[in-house]
Parts: sequence; C-alpha cells; structure tokens
Amino acid sequence: MSGAPVLFVATSNEGKKREYRDLLAPLRVPVLFPPDLGLRVEVVESGATYAENARLKAMAHLHALRERGVEAVVLADDSGLEVDALEGAPGIRSARYTPGSDEDRIAALLRHLEGVPWEQRTGRFRCVLAVVSSDGALRFFEGICEGVIATEPAGEGGFGYDPVFYLPDRGCTMAQLPPGEKNRISHRARAVQAAIPLLRRLLSSSGSGVLRL
Ligand code: IMP
Repeated sequence: MSGAPVLFVATSNEGKKREYRDLLAPLRVPVLFPPDLGLRVEVVESGATYAENARLKAMAHLHALRERGVEAVVLADDSGLEVDALEGAPGIRSARYTPGSDEDRIAALLRHLEGVPWEQRTGRFRCVLAVVSSDGALRFFEGICEGVIATEPAGEGGFGYDPVFYLPDRGCTMAQLPPGEKNRISHRARAVQAAIPLLRRLLSSSGSGVLRL
C-alpha cells in the first residue's frame, strides 16, 4: 500500500466536510472522513464545553480507528453560535437548538430575537478543534468570528446559521460571501490556521500519528 500519511477528520457534517477539504489542502495529505472508512461512531455530546465535546468526538474516533488497526492523526471540532442578547445561546447546543433543519433553527433564533434592536444583536461563531495523535496526546485550538444576527436570512453559501450571520465589515452575511472567502475569515479557518504547524509536524514525523493505507 502507499504508506502516505493521512489525516482523519471526525465529522460527517457535509458543511464542515466541504470547508475542511479546502482548509486542510495546504497540508497536501489525503483527508478522510468517517464515511470514507465506513465508520459510524455515535458520540453523545455530553460535555459542558466545546473543548470537552471536541475531545469526546476525537477520542471516540481514535478508538474506532484503533479497533481497525489504523493509526491516525484525528481532528475533531465542536462549534456554535453565541448570541449576546440570548446570554450566549444557542452556544454548544447550536446543532440541537430546535429539532428539524437548519432553516427551522434559524427561524427559532429569529423568533427569540424578535424586537431586539440591531446594536444588541451581536454574537460570534466559535470553533474549538481537538487534535489527537496516535499516542493519544491531545491539543486544542480555538477560532472566533464576530458578527451581528440579521433580521432575515440572506445568501446560499455555507451551512447552518450562515444566512443570518451578518459581517459588518463585509456588508453581507456569511452565506453571501464569494466562494472561498468564508474559509479565509471564519472561526473554523482561524482554528485550523492555529493548528496547521502541529498538524504538519505530526504528519511528517513518520510513524507518529499517521494513518497508513
Ligand atoms: P457541532 O459542532 O457539530 O456540535 O454543531 C455545530 C453547529 O453550530 C452546526 O450544526 C451549526 O448549526 C452551527 N455552526 C457551527 N459552525 C457553523 C458555521 O460555520 N456556519 C453556520 N453554523 C455553524
């Protein structure tokens, strides 16, 4: 087999997968996701913090890979939208804010912000990455992107709450940014940028944290 180093990203979220493919491209290694290896690992996000949930996801996937005899550098993220007028909600519960689709969650968010004036609609996306090498050593990286919650959705790009996440310095929502631009400024992009030096090290040191196909 090839022996090429591979990075495993512990998410099946299609929106995140698209972004990680681009964000991790500079590493010039194949990036694999759970479905690529037929993995279906159910992780209960029972942590009280993003870091704890990211750790739970990373370790559960590391163990599942080990059971298959696969050594890997595993990257997992937990992320969410924190709205100041809602005391930080939906926060770590962003994906579970209401049952249903992204559109349902956006509708719920806008309902909860009804009547809240523009200057009080501030918030941020936060992403915490857990990177775990094959020996189980764990490191965390965080990225934040500040914005304002719009009063109605606009734009087709991105995923999740992007259509209502307005970027004052861009004059548009995250979902209206030109292709590629979200990956230059987002919370996820910033967390990945911070993790790149470590990922480079782990993926280049042979035998340490490297999935070999
Ligand atoms: P989790 O990290 O999989 O627990 O879920 C994160 C949730 O936060 C997503 O399902 C989205 O609802 C929201 N979220 C995280 N990052 C983004 C983003 O980049 N854009 C829009 N919504 C996001």
